[in-house]
Amino acid sequence: MHCRTFESKIPAYIAGQLNMEEMQEFLEHLDSCRECYDELEITYSVMQGIRQLDSEDGDTTAKDLELSLDRSIYFSQDRVQKWTTRLVIKYALNTAAFWSVLMTLWFQFRFWIEGI
Ligand SMILES: [Zn+2]
Repeated sequence: MHCRTFESKIPAYIAGQLNMEEMQEFLEHLDSCRECYDELEITYSVMQGIRQLDSEDGDTTAKDLELSLDRSIYFSQDRVQKWTTRLVIKYALNTAAFWSVLMTLWFQFRFWIEGI
């Protein structure tokens, strides 16, 4: 993912509207690009600040916002990791199912050929 793509996805990330594949790419880029992390932090702080003002809960400091962004990233990474694990398990089960069907057919065919 390029920095420009990353920046365009920041609002969707904050709003929780990225699908898992987008989220995975987003987090991978976030991990490797300090500039984009800073960009996300600024946007996140501004959007959270506006939300705080709207709810008139005005005693949130910059430190709290930073913590809450890190928490948000942590939860996103956790969700992506679980999603990836589920995909791997699904792939493994599909592969196992495929091979067992193939083996069954192979033995059926051999029994049929050998007349057992
Ligand atoms: Zn970047």
